[in-house]
Amino acid sequence: MKNLTRYSLSALIITSLLSATFARSIAHNDRPNKASVIGSTQYDDPYSDFRNAKYSNAGLLSERDEIKLGAQLHREVTKKFNLTDVGLARVDRLGQRCANASLRPTLTYKFHVIQDREINGFSLPGGHVYVTTALIRLANDNELGAVLCHEVGHIVARHSLKTLKKSKEYDDIANSLGDITGVAGSIARDLGVTLGQIVGAGMLTIHSRDEEREADFLGVRAMPAAGFDPQGMITMFQKLERIEQQDSSLLGTLFSDHPDATERIENTRYEIARMKRR
Ligand SMILES: [Zn+2]
Repeated sequence: MKNLTRYSLSALIITSLLSATFARSIAHNDRPNKASVIGSTQYDDPYSDFRNAKYSNAGLLSERDEIKLGAQLHREVTKKFNLTDVGLARVDRLGQRCANASLRPTLTYKFHVIQDREINGFSLPGGHVYVTTALIRLANDNELGAVLCHEVGHIVARHSLKTLKKSKEYDDIANSLGDITGVAGSIARDLGVTLGQIVGAGMLTIHSRDEEREADFLGVRAMPAAGFDPQGMITMFQKLERIEQQDSSLLGTLFSDHPDATERIENTRYEIARMKRR
């Protein structure tokens, strides 16, 4: 399990920060507007699928159960990873700014730091966001803000809940959450075993390319209101690209399969230009 856990933590940096995105979707459903038409050239909007998205728990676990699930998952994370107070005050201060500026500001967000030499960040249902000590050392405030706003974006869009809903464990977990009253007791213990396996396999923290693109979009959109320079998202990607070239073991193994930081930088540039025109 330890190896699996390490592997999944390695994988997270890829999915959280650097995973490949599909070719840009053609924005044929979007009416051309001032932002997408420059001169006579219409540029494809990489985020057209997400602009009018509405987010809620409808059809998923209720927010109450999501928060219960998050508490249980966090317990499993604390068993598997070495959490630390190093840098936590900074991460919480910056992270709460992302939370307040997000499209889901009423949820209580909890930010955590994991002691690890790998550069990484991930989030779980119920408002839990994790970054590693290696990441927070690497990133200035605008860059760390970019990562944290991206992770909050996954929580806003309920990506992990949508993944869970598709899993074979979903019914069991949903039923257990309904019965659970605390972290003790046999129901919580049984649920803990299942959730421990889910955390170990990285099931809720590995996202599709579309989900990564959506979290990038929600993240960069939240950054100005959170008081961050959105250029920080670009320089963060650039730093990760450089590290990949120098010592890719710091980023985990999957990064080499998804060398698409260039496209994510392009998409982020597009959105920053678009926000400036508004
Ligand atoms: Zn992500």
